[in-house]
Parts: sequence; C-alpha cells; structure tokens
Amino acid sequence: MTQDGSNEVIRLPESAVLALAADFLLSHGLGADHAGSMARILTAAQRDGCLSHGLQRLPGTRDTISHPRFNRTPDPKPVDVSAAITRIDAQYGFSCLAVDRGLSSLVEKARTLGVAILAVNNGFHSTALWPVVEAIADHGLVALSMNPTHAWVAPSGGRQGLLGTNPLAFAWPRRDAPPYVFDFATSAAARAEIARYRQEGRTTPEGWGLDSDGEDTRDPAAILAGAMLPFGGHKGSALATMIELMAGPFIADRTSRVSMEFDAGASAAPCHGELIIAFSPGILGDEDPLDAAESLFQGFREQDARLPGERRYRERETSHRLGIPVSKSLLERIRV
Ligand code: NDP
Repeated sequence: MTQDGSNEVIRLPESAVLALAADFLLSHGLGADHAGSMARILTAAQRDGCLSHGLQRLPGTRDTISHPRFNRTPDPKPVDVSAAITRIDAQYGFSCLAVDRGLSSLVEKARTLGVAILAVNNGFHSTALWPVVEAIADHGLVALSMNPTHAWVAPSGGRQGLLGTNPLAFAWPRRDAPPYVFDFATSAAARAEIARYRQEGRTTPEGWGLDSDGEDTRDPAAILAGAMLPFGGHKGSALATMIELMAGPFIADRTSRVSMEFDAGASAAPCHGELIIAFSPGILGDEDPLDAAESLFQGFREQDARLPGERRYRERETSHRLGIPVSKSLLERIRV
C-alpha cells in the first residue's frame, strides 16, 4: 500500500521527479531559484524513502504559499555577523533557499576556524533536516541542525502544547562510506504519523499524547485536538526546550508558540529560524578522529545493529538503479 492508499506505484528518473516538483511550485508563482531549491529537497526525500517529507508535501504547500506573509520571490543574501557566524534572512520564503545560499559561507568559516554557525531567520519550513547536515558532512565537516515548529507538544509534566516537534539532525563524515546521519523530531511521534493512525481508525501506542483536558489518550483525533508528548519523558522535553532556545531566542527568532500565533489559523508551515553549526572534526585531536569513529561504527556491525541513515542510503541506491517510486494517485494530484 502506498502512503495515500493506492497500490499503484511507478518509478521515474530523478530528473522527471525534480521537474514535476519544480513545475508545481512554479505554477504557484514561486521564483525559479526558490522553486528549484524546494524541488531538490522534496525530490531527495522521495528518492531516499522519506515519504512524509517527499512529494506528498506539495499539495500542502498551497496553504503556506497562500499565507499573507509568504514571499514567492525572496532573494536571501548571507551577512557576516562575525568571523565565525553568518546570518541569512529567508525573507518569508521557504527556508531551503536561504540554507542553500548560506552554506558555502558556513563551510568556509568552519574550515578556517574549526567551528562556525549559520543562523537562518524568517523561513517557512516544510522539509526534513538531513539533506543539509549530510551536505555539510560531504565537505568533511561535522554538522548539527535544529529548528522549532508549532506549539503542538506539551512539556513533560504539562498538559498543553508549548514546545514544537523540534527536529534535531546530526552528521559525521566518513572516509569510505556516506556520512553517519540521524534526523528525528523530539516528539514521541511525528504529527503526520498520528494523522495516519486517525485515518486508519487505529489507536496509537501509549505515551504519544494528551486530550484537550490534558489526560493521557490513545485516540489519535483527541491527541491532534489536544497535545502531543515529547519522546523519552523529561529527556525529550529538555532537548525540545534546548532547540526552542537555540533556534529561537539565541538567533533572534520565533519560538514554536510565537510561530503558531504568527500562523493565526492559516494552516501554513511553521515560520521560524533554523540553527546550523559546523565543526572541523580534527580541530582538537592529535589522532585522526575519522579512524576512531570507524572503530565505533565497527562495534555496531559486530552486533548487527544498524546505523541511522543506512536504510535511507539503501533506498537511494535502489532509486538510482530503478527510478524514484511515486504513487499514481499522488502524481495525478501534483501534475500541472
Ligand atoms: P524517526 O523516528 O523515523 O527517526 C528517523 C531517524 O532515526 C533517521 O535518521 C533513521 O535513519 C533513524 N532510525 C530509524 N529507525 C532506526 C533503527 N531501527 N536503528 C537506527 N536508526 C534508526 O523520525 P521522525 O518521524 O521523528 O522524523 C522524520 C523526519 O521528519 C525527519 O527527517 C525530521 O527532520 C522531519 N521533521 C521535520 C520537521 C520540520 O520542522 N522541518 C518537524 C518534525 C520532523 P534512516 O533514515 O536510515 O531510517
């Protein structure tokens, strides 16, 4: 079964998927660079089997594009805040264009100084974070990225949405293998996952959310109307709070609660900042850190434990060989 209920999937070359996504966005008035940047990131997610952040996002971008503050033709430009810090204003477009344009400055600064920051402000977000940390690791650097979202998640011990689903992504470069990458929300489950349980008429596992009275529930509709919960109790709650602080006030941008107020019921993607940090892996060590890391990864292999990212790289390899899978019914919805 596909993500939208249809069993029929066809495989398309990457260039065709990219063109489909770009044409959809261009037809809604996005500038060429803006549409191209968003199309690349959605295509990468579709290619790597991250369907929740692939082409199925396209129909929903209409709500974001219709937001009164959304800018179809932003022209973000990186600004040097200091030797180690670059800031770029996404100008109320999708943040991926600002990230693309800020990346070379971040990489250059991290290579020169050992550590550097890229602060992205005022971007509508609707994508996964792994493409950016993986791209930084492809330059031989370690990368961290995080952002707030909307205040859907109650803090541990609380009863109402305050924190975002706040994703955290990390990448470590490897010499003879694609980077080690993880990327996940700090909520117990992604919001789209809870919506899928509702659609399929199933109850969720315990610990995913609260109803509108702040009581534990396994009813997905009640969770969506009430509050989600962080993963790992107080630990996930603290991580999500760190992300609020570091990708909110630290870079002079919105917390998830302020992003939700900004939305004012428009159902657009959250609008906020994103913090990206890059480190040179060899800056503090005498030994080669990449060799030491390989020894750690070898320990996973010895236990048949998989590394995060491995499933994605396998999906990517299959997509390169056979084409990117897309359900026919989704194709019909997005074809211009
Ligand atoms: P998951 O809980 O599915 O976790 C995904 C991560 O964990 C991946 O790195 C995955 O690697 C790894 N992983 C999964 N299972 C295993 C396993 N058994 N062993 C080792 N590693 C494993 O992710 P979420 O649902 O929380 O998030 C999905 C996406 O949603 C993320 O890309 C995130 O950026 C995005 N998101 C974006 C938001 C935004 O504001 N932009 C908000 C919230 C989420 P692999 O890929 O190889 O399976």
